[in-house]
Amino acid sequence: MDRRVSQKPDEPTTDEKKKRKRKRKSKQTLTRAVPHIRLAEANTGKHEALDQLADAFMALTQQYVTLLCTQDATPDGYMPPVYESSLSERWQRVALQQAAGIAKAWRSNRQNAYANYQHDHAAYAQAKEKNPQTKRKEPVWRAWNLPELRVQSIQANVNVVKLEPSEDSTFDYWLQVATLEKGSPLRIPVKLAAYHKKVLTDRALNTSVALHKRKGTWWLTLSFDEEPPQRTEAEASRVGVDVGIANFLTTSDGKAYGTFHGKLAQKHKRDREKRRCKAKLRACLEKQGVPKDRLPSTSSETSQRLSRQVKQDINQAVNAMLKDHPDARIIYEDLSVSSMRFKAKQMNAYLYASQLGHIPDQLAWACARRGQAAHTVNPAYSSQECPRCHYVDRANRPTQKTFCCVVCGYRAHADHKAAGTLALRWGDTELAECRGLAAIKALLVQRHEEWKKNQQRVKGNGPPLQLSLWDHPEEFLETSHMKHF
Ligand SMILES: [Zn+2]
Repeated sequence: MDRRVSQKPDEPTTDEKKKRKRKRKSKQTLTRAVPHIRLAEANTGKHEALDQLADAFMALTQQYVTLLCTQDATPDGYMPPVYESSLSERWQRVALQQAAGIAKAWRSNRQNAYANYQHDHAAYAQAKEKNPQTKRKEPVWRAWNLPELRVQSIQANVNVVKLEPSEDSTFDYWLQVATLEKGSPLRIPVKLAAYHKKVLTDRALNTSVALHKRKGTWWLTLSFDEEPPQRTEAEASRVGVDVGIANFLTTSDGKAYGTFHGKLAQKHKRDREKRRCKAKLRACLEKQGVPKDRLPSTSSETSQRLSRQVKQDINQAVNAMLKDHPDARIIYEDLSVSSMRFKAKQMNAYLYASQLGHIPDQLAWACARRGQAAHTVNPAYSSQECPRCHYVDRANRPTQKTFCCVVCGYRAHADHKAAGTLALRWGDTELAECRGLAAIKALLVQRHEEWKKNQQRVKGNGPPLQLSLWDHPEEFLETSHMKHF
């Protein structure tokens, strides 16, 4: 039966539409923030009204943050409201969505910390098994405090605020804010500094704005979308980019950029030891009766610093790669969460899994900023597929570092080959249309069968053609620890 006829497609939900919109925007569109616009022109009455609104808003947001952090279900900003509030339905939705964002971040941070703890605990158990008399302390999992919203901050959308150009010459805009009183919105004058004006010339502003209160003053953040002109030529050469841990980026022309190993791994190890020491000290002081608020914190401040450092290193690697390939079309893999986990699995890489995702994000952003074409392709089996005969087999990877086809004998550095396979997948509509791993595998098997038939036909006419793209030098310093599926 023809599915197209028998099934009427469901209307996409708001959530799906949003997701699509985000996806469409994320490819080559940059959103730029214009922060630090001081709302100094509003009179005291207006400030008080805004304060009042913010108090009600923050209280409600806090309630939802607590709820969404503690309930089992994944935080959903579109859930029906459950708390009483003096705020309008629209404001309640804004609060719920802001709370869902905070709760998601908190939950994923806690999850990472818990994975950290489990790793420490496993190491402890191992040490204990080796030497039952070990002096090592058993790591203890401490419950995390729920997030407390201290800074007054409102991420408002068009449902509750509206920015209107001012007809009056003294101000640049009016920020219209829906308040607790229905039908009487606040009108706050906005005056831009000269440098704000310069940045915003000829820009269409986004409808969402952010409001923050710092040291008694309200500040406004505006934003706009930008699409830098594409400067990659249609005939530009392609460069495939494989993402990984041993090397953040490996290109199909055989270059590698950045690594989690070495300096970062050592820092990570030191950080873990430091936290263990701190926990020890804390337990000791606790025993002596030092009050809780005087105890040294075991918070992950250094982990956060380390995480920033990893991101910085990733950004540097991406910049260096793009500097080496300024005119190329960049093809990289559409990393899914499951493939990230897979890549991280063989390492002590609970940390890395969360950071790996930063690489494709940064690639997309950096290419967009440069107006350089970048495309994602499905990476399924890209580490196992032979580029010459399309044979797919785990056995094609005798070591992490080496690709060697068990059918045709094609041999290359595994990561270069994977990056090259990605490059070839751009524009491969047949493969792009495959839904699911099984369909991709079936297509590759079919291509291998075709190759075999061709081989029989050309037998005796000399060796089969080899793509020059695959002639890579094999010297490589680091071992790669990745494999897809
Ligand atoms: Zn082969």
